[in-house]
Amino acid sequence: MQTAGVVIIGGGVIGASVAYHLAARGVRDVLVLERGARPGEGSTGRATGGFRAQFGTRVNVRLSLLSREKLLRFEEETGVDPGFRQAGYLFVVGNEGELQELVSAQAVQRECGLSEARVVGVEEAARLNPALNLEGVAGGVYSPSDGFIRPLEILRGYTSAAARLGARFLYGVAVEGARAGVGGKTGTLLTTAGEVSAGAFVNAAGAWAGEVGRLVGAEVPVTPLRRQVAITRPFDQLPEAMPMTIYAGDGFHLRVREGRVLLLWPDVPRVADPFETGVDEGWLKTVVSKAHARVPCLRGAEIDRAACWAGLYEMSPDRHAILGRAEGFEDLYLADGSSGHGVMHAPALGQLLAEIILDGRAHALDAHALRPSRFAEGEPNAGPSLL
Ligand SMILES: Cc1cc2nc3c(=O)[nH]c(=O)nc-3n(C[C@H](O)[C@H](O)[C@H](O)COP(=O)(O)OP(=O)(O)OC[C@H]3O[C@@H](n4cnc5c(N)ncnc54)[C@H](O)[C@@H]3O)c2cc1C
Repeated sequence: MQTAGVVIIGGGVIGASVAYHLAARGVRDVLVLERGARPGEGSTGRATGGFRAQFGTRVNVRLSLLSREKLLRFEEETGVDPGFRQAGYLFVVGNEGELQELVSAQAVQRECGLSEARVVGVEEAARLNPALNLEGVAGGVYSPSDGFIRPLEILRGYTSAAARLGARFLYGVAVEGARAGVGGKTGTLLTTAGEVSAGAFVNAAGAWAGEVGRLVGAEVPVTPLRRQVAITRPFDQLPEAMPMTIYAGDGFHLRVREGRVLLLWPDVPRVADPFETGVDEGWLKTVVSKAHARVPCLRGAEIDRAACWAGLYEMSPDRHAILGRAEGFEDLYLADGSSGHGVMHAPALGQLLAEIILDGRAHALDAHALRPSRFAEGEPNAGPSLL
C-alpha cells in the first residue's frame, strides 16, 4: 500500500499545477497518478495554446488575469518558458447582435480590471489582420494582452518544479476503483500499481473526471466533448504574430503556430470515443472552405492531413471550472470542468485549489462561483456567451 499526504488523479496541466502549488506551500508528500505512459497524453497535449482574458463572466476574467500575472513570472518560478506571447485576440462579428453580446462582456471585463479590450471598426480589424476578407465583417472586439502559450511547456514547468520540491509523479498508473471509506472519506484507491491511501484526494482527470468521480462514488458533472484541429503545411503568407482571429458567429478561428496555420471550428457537440484522434473528412472540408472564404491567401496553403488531430474538452454544465471540496466528502477535491480553457487557467486554478485544501478557502480571488455545489443549489454561472 502506498500512502501520501495528497494524491492527485491525473497528471495533465491542472494536476501538475495543483501538485506544484501544494509543494510550494510546503506539502512534501504529494503523489500524482497518471495513467498515460508520459506527461501530456490527455487533453493538455492536444491544446492549441490560446490565452485570453476576454470572457463574459467575472470569475473567468479574474481567473485569466491571475493566470496572466503568473505566466509573466512563470519562468522565474519554474525555470521553464511558458511561451506566453501577447499577440492579441481579435473577435470579428457579422452583425450588430453579435457585437452587442461582446460589448456587454466588455462591461464585465472592465469591472474586473481588463481595460485594454476594445471595440474595433472594420478598418481597424483589417489593420490588425490584413489577411481577412472583409465581406460580411462588421467590426469586432480586440484585446492586445491576450495571446498564446505553450501547453506542454507549462505542463513541463509545473511537473519539474513540483518534482524538485518533492512531489512524486507515477506514469502508467490508472485508478480503477476505490474501497469506500466511511464518514465522508474517499477510502483507498485501487490502482494498477496496488492500493493507495491519502489524507486528501484531488480529481484532476480532465475529460475523464466524471468517470473517475464514479469510481470513488462522487458525482462530477463533466462530459468529454470532441474538438478537431486542421493544420497546414509550413506556410509563410501569414505572420507568426497574427492575432488569434475568431468569428463570433460560428466559432471558426485560426492562428499561426511555428510557421503553420491552425484552423478550428466547433462543430455539433457530441460525446466521442476518446481514442478517436483523427479528424472527420466532412468536418475538414467545411473548415477548409470557411478558411478559403474568410482568409483568401489560405487557398495557397496545403492541409497536412496526417498532422490534423482531435482531442477532448472537459465540459461542465455551465462551461466553468468546478473547483473545491466535493459535496458529501471531507477529503475529496475537484479541479475539473474548465470546458476548453484549462491550460490558460491552470496557473490560477492550481494556486486556488492549494489554498482551499490547506486554508479552507481561496485567497487569491473569490472562487465561490466555481464551487461544486452550485448546480445542486440551482446557481450555475451565466453571462454573455463568449466561446
Ligand atoms: C483541440 C483542443 C484545443 C484546445 N485549446 C486550448 C487553448 O487554446 N487554451 C486552453 O486553455 N485550453 C485549450 N484546450 C483545453 C485544454 O486542453 C484542457 O482544458 C486542459 O488540457 C485540461 O487539463 P487537465 O489537466 O484537466 O486534463 P488532461 O491534460 O486531460 O489531464 C487529465 C489526465 O488524467 C488522466 N487520467 C484520466 N483518468 C485517469 C485514471 N483513471 N487514472 C489515472 N489517470 C487518469 C489522463 O490520462 C490525463 O492525462 C484545448 C483542448 C483541445 C482538445
